[in-house]
Amino acid sequence: MYEQDTIAAIATPPGEGGVAIVRVSGIDAERIAQRVFSRSRGKNGKLRSHMLYHGSIRDPQTENVVDEVLLTIMRQPRSYTGEDVIEVHCHGGAFLSRQILGLILAQGARQAEAGEFTKRAFLNGKLDLAQAEAVLDLIRARTAKGAELALNQASGSLSKHVGELREELLDILVQVEAAIDFPDEEIELLQRPKLVGKIVNLADKINAISATYEWGRLFREGAKVCISGRPNVGKSSLLNALLGEQRVIVTPIPGTTRDVIEESMNLDGLPVVIWDTAGIRETGDQVEQLGVELSHQYLEKADAVIVVLDGSQQFDVEDLAVLRSVGGKKRLVVINKNDLPKAFSVDQFKCQDGEAEVVLVSAKTGDGIDSLKTALRNLLINFQAETEVAVTNVRHRSELMRSAESLEQGAISLGSGLPPELAAVNLNEAREALEEIIGIVNNDDILERIFKNFCVGK
Ligand code: GDP
Repeated sequence: MYEQDTIAAIATPPGEGGVAIVRVSGIDAERIAQRVFSRSRGKNGKLRSHMLYHGSIRDPQTENVVDEVLLTIMRQPRSYTGEDVIEVHCHGGAFLSRQILGLILAQGARQAEAGEFTKRAFLNGKLDLAQAEAVLDLIRARTAKGAELALNQASGSLSKHVGELREELLDILVQVEAAIDFPDEEIELLQRPKLVGKIVNLADKINAISATYEWGRLFREGAKVCISGRPNVGKSSLLNALLGEQRVIVTPIPGTTRDVIEESMNLDGLPVVIWDTAGIRETGDQVEQLGVELSHQYLEKADAVIVVLDGSQQFDVEDLAVLRSVGGKKRLVVINKNDLPKAFSVDQFKCQDGEAEVVLVSAKTGDGIDSLKTALRNLLINFQAETEVAVTNVRHRSELMRSAESLEQGAISLGSGLPPELAAVNLNEAREALEEIIGIVNNDDILERIFKNFCVGK
């Protein structure tokens, strides 16, 4: 067992609720439970593991009953942390749970730090590092899909995959090391191109997983989409139509939307934050000018842009300026006001921007809004087919990239006839990077950084 002391914390969020849970983990957990808990029925003998007992929490000094609770003990190793764990389910509310935690701390437990329960689970071998980090993602997930990805990872799918890649790498390393130990020219000459091929192939596989990060990030953090267009083309109306409700004020006076309006929506499981920005145009009005500058800043941060045009008006220089300001960003062009007579056709527009997908809608009647949603979702995540493993964590991605880069260097060095010792150095770096994902090498700094992001009690 890695840790010696006993930790305790309130595991439920602060505020009022039906039930609050105080969690205790460590060598003294059971002794502490016996000091503060009395069963309502039966003898106060040894509690059975994984059973729920009804009883009360008492202050051992004053004998005063603090609360009526349910208590369970989960004896090691069959617990979340791998240590003896006690959970006290008391009545909700900040006061009672804090009072119970206070009693437990007075019996010798220590207040847990953020993420310390999960850290112990990792240190006691209950979870590997990628799984422990996924627990955090799970807590933070904002949509069903985000939770599904995190749960998938928490149950070990990424770790399993990375473990397999590591095995493959170890096989290659054995062969490179054999070439070092037995520098028989003939064998070596035959083996080099084959080994280089294997290394490149492995680097490709690792790059492919690391590319899923972008996709995973969108599901976890949400995609950021900017609605851009000159004033009065119907941006606010379009946002209302996308949200399916009237949330943004729509007026016929150009330049009404001066601040950036932020709304969130769920695009078939993909969380999306939409910014309705001020119209982008040259203006003498100072306030409006500020709005235009702000629009540019949001444009920079967006994962994709919806450029709105008014189909009932001629395409003009202001529209062109908007299109130019979007630059090389992922974009969708929406020709709005399709319920009115058309002033230009899609084909005419295509001369301005041949690449962007064009969707015809009417924000007023709702016509075309579903196609717009589908097109937007595809635009945001079409670069990656939905694979089984997706990297959702920036640390994992950077280790994967480090691993692939080291492999590529190893392949170059081996392929160009340099001594195999040099390639072995690169391959070992690649191996370490993979091991840092699952936590086979655990560096204290990394652990501290990861677990401090957790809440206390997890
Ligand atoms: P914004 O300045 O780009 O945000 O534009 P608004 O959403 O405020 O709309 C400007 C005007 O165009 C308002 O009078 C809307 O009612 C009108 N409008 C917006 N969308 C449509 C549409 O699809 N059809 C028609 N006929 N009018 C629309």
